[in-house]
Amino acid sequence: ERRAQIAAFDGDGRLADGTALPLLANVGNGADARAAAEAGAQGVGLFRTEFLFFDRDSEPGHEEQVSAYREVFEAFAARGTAEQPAKVVLRTLDAGADKPLPFLTDTEEPNPALGVRGFRTELASPGVLGRQLAAVAEAEAAAGDTVDVWVMAPMISTTEEAASFRTMAAEAGLKTPGVMIEVPAAALTAGPITEEVEFVSIGTNDLTQYTMASDRQLGSLAALNDAWQPAVLQLIGATGATSHGPVGVCGEAAADPALAPVLVGLGATSLSMSAAALPAVAAVLRTVSPEQAKELAAVATAARSSAETRAAVVAQLPALQ
Ligand code: PEP
Ligand code: MG
Repeated sequence: ERRAQIAAFDGDGRLADGTALPLLANVGNGADARAAAEAGAQGVGLFRTEFLFFDRDSEPGHEEQVSAYREVFEAFAARGTAEQPAKVVLRTLDAGADKPLPFLTDTEEPNPALGVRGFRTELASPGVLGRQLAAVAEAEAAAGDTVDVWVMAPMISTTEEAASFRTMAAEAGLKTPGVMIEVPAAALTAGPITEEVEFVSIGTNDLTQYTMASDRQLGSLAALNDAWQPAVLQLIGATGATSHGPVGVCGEAAADPALAPVLVGLGATSLSMSAAALPAVAAVLRTVSPEQAKELAAVATAARSSAETRAAVVAQLPALQ
């Protein structure tokens, strides 16, 4: 019934007092990006680039990468102006664990989720990341000045890794490097990490998996794999409280209309989700002031279980009743 009342997203994410809270889309290719722009997304908060690398036995070449990235950037070119370009956050290759790639992933690893994945791939297979960043830089230049491309690395655990990614992005000529916060160690050291990079984006899918020590692919562990778990919310809060610069959230949690205001209260400055989730999240945020979001965050982090947390938050959100 509530669904029927939710209007299409008007492309302008805001809180009740008018504070801007950009609502961005998670996309995986050009078609997704065009659909997201059509649905009103203000930009892209997570461009997963694995699609280009799946189902093949070697790395895609430079030209192929440039044109695939360009397609996504150009889907948002008309959403921005030279003064206010549309943001597209591209995530560099996240190979390994739940996203194995035949030519990069060692399938003999005993614990793939704890193995060589994401940014760690650079250690085992140096060069792939640098070539990807070079293609991103060329695609960005081709897409024009109405799109602002940010790049972020997945599976960062330490400040040194963040610094190393910043150096690589700079070498490619990319000016806005960031990292994903999806490992508890990174959430706890978000302060020093954000002295090295310009922004962070919290990946709640993996942050939940690693905080709760529960495989995200196991349906039988769904109760543990829940971003409403107090421990997960506390790590998100630590990230929000200590980060310098923008703090996005791009995991599934951002698409939950009850959790979205809590994430804002914990310090999120933008939320990224599948385009289909935008209208419901936008509608709830419009009913919540920044002060109320902070109160919801306090209620959420003080609760003792995920069920208690959710119930306490929903009780304070008339828009969801
Ligand atoms: C996450 O981990 O929350 C995330 C957004 O990335 P992925 O789901 O692609 O690992
Ligand atoms: Mg992840």
